[in-house]
Amino acid sequence: MLVQQSYRYELKPNNKQKTLLSKHAGCARFAYNWGLARRMEEHKETQKSSNAIEQHRQLNALKKTEFPWMYEVSKCAPQEALRDLDKAYKNFFRSIKSGKKIGFPKFKKKGVNDSFRLTGSMRSLKRSVVLPRLGEIRTKERTNVKGRILSVTVSREADRWFVAFAVERKRGEYIRTLQETAMGVDVGINSFCVLSDGTKIESPKPLEHSLKLLKRRSKQHSRKKIGSANRKKSALKLARLHRKIRNRRSDFLHKVSTMLAKTKSAVAVEDLNVKGMVKNRHLSLRISDAGWSEFLRHLDYKTKWYGSSLVKAPKFYPSSKMCSSCKTIKENFKLSDRIFRCDKCGLVIDRDVNAAINLKYLATGSSPGSYACRDTSGGGIPIKRESTSHVSLKQEADAKVSSGIFG
Ligand SMILES: [Zn+2]
Repeated sequence: MLVQQSYRYELKPNNKQKTLLSKHAGCARFAYNWGLARRMEEHKETQKSSNAIEQHRQLNALKKTEFPWMYEVSKCAPQEALRDLDKAYKNFFRSIKSGKKIGFPKFKKKGVNDSFRLTGSMRSLKRSVVLPRLGEIRTKERTNVKGRILSVTVSREADRWFVAFAVERKRGEYIRTLQETAMGVDVGINSFCVLSDGTKIESPKPLEHSLKLLKRRSKQHSRKKIGSANRKKSALKLARLHRKIRNRRSDFLHKVSTMLAKTKSAVAVEDLNVKGMVKNRHLSLRISDAGWSEFLRHLDYKTKWYGSSLVKAPKFYPSSKMCSSCKTIKENFKLSDRIFRCDKCGLVIDRDVNAAINLKYLATGSSPGSYACRDTSGGGIPIKRESTSHVSLKQEADAKVSSGIFG
């Protein structure tokens, strides 16, 4: 199976390299903003807009006279930035047609998501990477890049630099050694998720724990005078805290999703409308903190990697309201009820475990009782099964691989 994935490492640049990295990011930002301004002007005059190739040609012509400093950095940086701009334009116009809401491309700000992409000859050595123009830069940990390198993205997070190799590689068939079972996963409010075997997985709730600190840091930052050295310092502190929270959350989500995809033959989940739920103020913090949508995204590609399958419950599948023993639907079951008590068969069970078991039925296909009867009569709810044979390449690009998590 040919998949695209990425390997990400933290860089350990020396001072000279740090400057050059900043210059690359600056040049990429400049090219993006220059391209955007040009396109807007052109559109005003001619109602038309050029493309990345044309813009790169124009920029190259101006380089010699107008922007000689661009010769200091790899030509890939501005070129790839213009390609990104092209993509942003296309996404915007496509979104207008399809009715989705994607904003018009914005000008990039210095210090916000500083990054640049390189193509061409790049290598990873044991504890360093070799990039065009930048040369050999040490990494903080051992690198282990497998597959054909497609591109390299270098980005800054607060005061640190990271490199991400996008590669295309063959993944061998994964042979499971553990007992294969299907598992229902109910994403809960009190715990991160509950499995159909009764296991509750608690989330580290990194955001909630750090929220007090985050509030204080934000307040401290807002009180600093704009443009002052102290404001810069506090901005860095704030960015570091955000990064820490993000890393903790990401690490947790990767570990849980890998565990499930590796050890279960099928994983059944509720296809939650996370966007809609985040709008609910009382639930919003916990939901976005738990990172459900990211979790489902991980599960989606990892189950493919490990030859498992992801089964998404149909929208109105009554996973919470249905008794997992006799399939009776309890219509008056409220969101605040933590224990499920079946009026028909007398089953008393934790609400989330009951839901997880019902989800598991979707994966195993075994659903006896009244719900199944309705299903076979034609009035039931169709079960959506994700195919495991086809693997979409684009979703692997943001699969961040760090040491120890993947086999
Ligand atoms: Zn029952």
